[in-house]
Amino acid sequence: MRRVVVVGASLAAVHAIDALREHGFEGEIALVGAEPHLPYDRPPLSKEALQHGPDTTGLLLRSPEWYVERGVDLHLGRAAAALDPGARVVTLEGGASLDYDGLLIATGSKARTLGPASQAGPVYTLRTLDDCVALHERLVPGNHLVVIGAGFIGLEVAATARDMGMSVSVVELAPAPLSRVLGDEVGRWFMTCQAAHGVEVLCGTSVERIEAGSRGSKVVLGNGSTLWADLIVTGVGASPATDWLRGSGIRLSDGVVCDQSLRASAPGIVAAGDVTRWYHSLFDEEMRVEQWTNAVEQGRHAAMTLLGGDDPYIAVPYFWSDQFDVKMRFVGRANAAEQIHVERADTSSMVALFGRDGVIRGALCVNAPRQLALYRKAISDGTPWQDVVSA
Ligand SMILES: Cc1cc2nc3c(=O)[nH]c(=O)nc-3n(C[C@H](O)[C@H](O)[C@H](O)COP(=O)(O)OP(=O)(O)OC[C@H]3O[C@@H](n4cnc5c(N)ncnc54)[C@H](O)[C@@H]3O)c2cc1C
Repeated sequence: MRRVVVVGASLAAVHAIDALREHGFEGEIALVGAEPHLPYDRPPLSKEALQHGPDTTGLLLRSPEWYVERGVDLHLGRAAAALDPGARVVTLEGGASLDYDGLLIATGSKARTLGPASQAGPVYTLRTLDDCVALHERLVPGNHLVVIGAGFIGLEVAATARDMGMSVSVVELAPAPLSRVLGDEVGRWFMTCQAAHGVEVLCGTSVERIEAGSRGSKVVLGNGSTLWADLIVTGVGASPATDWLRGSGIRLSDGVVCDQSLRASAPGIVAAGDVTRWYHSLFDEEMRVEQWTNAVEQGRHAAMTLLGGDDPYIAVPYFWSDQFDVKMRFVGRANAAEQIHVERADTSSMVALFGRDGVIRGALCVNAPRQLALYRKAISDGTPWQDVVSA
């Protein structure tokens, strides 16, 4: 290969570039990023960076020198607009084009918005460093924040704002936060935790519309009640950043569809991170995950595949979330669980197990780091559900 183009100045990208150079790739590497920034870390954007204001340099995943040392040709602030996999060319916004021998797609995901319901007033999302800067400036102690959507990002924003002295309401359609994936009992634990810190959590209700009013924004709920907000943030999920690939002919289905080794459907193309949908043989499932560790590991793995490797990507997914003094760690998969067993739960800690097809698939540990390693091994080994819940 003469030239590798990496699209998406991302977490997966820097780990892929590391792996390419460590494994002897001496050709050209071009990195294309829609944002003007060098690749930076996103988890702090809903936690300490949101609270204290983002330190742009401190968030960088690699120093500017790192790119020079590795001979990376940077194209920042210019999104890729189209791909021609037959000619092996990526076209950038503005018309320039880059030809490649190997292409790594690492464009991540983008925040979903509420659509027409949110058109009446400023409604913020949180995905980028610039979003974090804009939001941080508006987190004013004493003001009222309404968070729409009680997923992990919504709950983390609620916790950060509450720690900063805002009053906070969270509105969620499901019966409890996170319950669509983690089940009602686990969801209720998070609801109790948020409420114990003074967050009002309103579940089982939709947002009908948002109106601009004299006292800020008026959020009209499906149950007929209203909330007044100085600030509204939505955390209603993310979708893969694949718009630029429409019409390219490469297979898309809620992400770039890849084989077990992260190869996309056209020659010389791999994908890594949030944008990737691939078949995971351990879980016998086609999946796409929006998790930090996955982007790191897939970046390295996809690079190895570009260099001729053929190993399947079979790492057990892992992610964390920090809210107030709660450190939640999750290993494995919870979706489509047939059994959910809450092993123990008190006011400050919880362990919940998720099973399917007779084996343990996932484990959630809140303030319980030691159990996590044990369950990770049980999941990799395909340990029977009965052996784990009765142990
Ligand atoms: C606020 C927040 C908090 C999070 N907290 C946690 C956490 O606590 N734990 C955890 O496990 N995970 C967390 N995550 C998820 C984690 O950060 C992501 O899974 C990870 O960043 C994904 O990395 P990636 O390499 O796929 O893409 P990203 O790092 O998201 O980067 C993708 C890049 O591609 C760029 N791009 C998009 N389209 C184009 C295009 N057409 N051309 C060029 N560039 C393009 C984007 O602008 C972006 O810069 C959090 C995410 C967010 C947003």
